[in-house]
Amino acid sequence: MGQDICQNIEDVSTRIRKACTRADRDPEEVQLIAISKMKPLEDIKTAFGCGQLHFGENRAKELQDKMEAYEEDQIQWHMVGNLQTNKIKYMVNRVNWIDSVPKSKTLREIEKRASRIDRVINTLIQINISGEDQKSGCEPENLADILEYAQGLEYVRVRGLMGMATFVDKDKVEKVRPEFQLLREVRDEHRSYECKNIQLDELSMGMTNDMEIAIEEGSTMVRVGRAIFGERNY
Ligand SMILES: *Cc1c(COP(=O)(O)O)cnc(C)c1O
Repeated sequence: MGQDICQNIEDVSTRIRKACTRADRDPEEVQLIAISKMKPLEDIKTAFGCGQLHFGENRAKELQDKMEAYEEDQIQWHMVGNLQTNKIKYMVNRVNWIDSVPKSKTLREIEKRASRIDRVINTLIQINISGEDQKSGCEPENLADILEYAQGLEYVRVRGLMGMATFVDKDKVEKVRPEFQLLREVRDEHRSYECKNIQLDELSMGMTNDMEIAIEEGSTMVRVGRAIFGERNY
């Protein structure tokens, strides 16, 4: 199994490189975030052992447990899932990135908790690009207010935007291209909000099925679970 995970990471890296070649982009611009949700710590250790540094989880409790169990300084931990404000206090001491910030209130809580321990947290604002109600993230028209709020913060760095495309079968992924284009356009339209703690360089978009299309549309972070760790058993 361990062997498989390393081979899978190589295969995913090859997919990233090929997509970058097609899109005339430098593969160095695209960070692979290994989404280890529902997978055991052993798998994370294996992936780390073959050079993977960025890991993402979508549940606060699971993230916290794994961060505590595996205190490897080099790992960059990302929270990528639906985020309840009252869970932030449990992760600020170790999480490096909170990629799924949906509103100003979340930033306020991150600022409050991070300031107490003098840590700066990297964040992405999650935008609802799929148009589906049940997906989290703010509506594009609310981003300006959130960024304006973020400009006054000291312990929050906004590094870019995250989006989750509509889930479609592998053979229909072309359908989500406009959603990725939307995320990039929203980013481009808000560049004027950049300041000392806001840079909108990162676009976290693309998963196992649709990472190639996301890269063609400008993704700088692909969040890949199944292609690395195998299918999840729910
Ligand atoms: C599970 C998950 C992923 C990874 O999805 P795969 O299809 O396994 O690659 C990416 N982002 C988020 C927010 C997730 O919850």
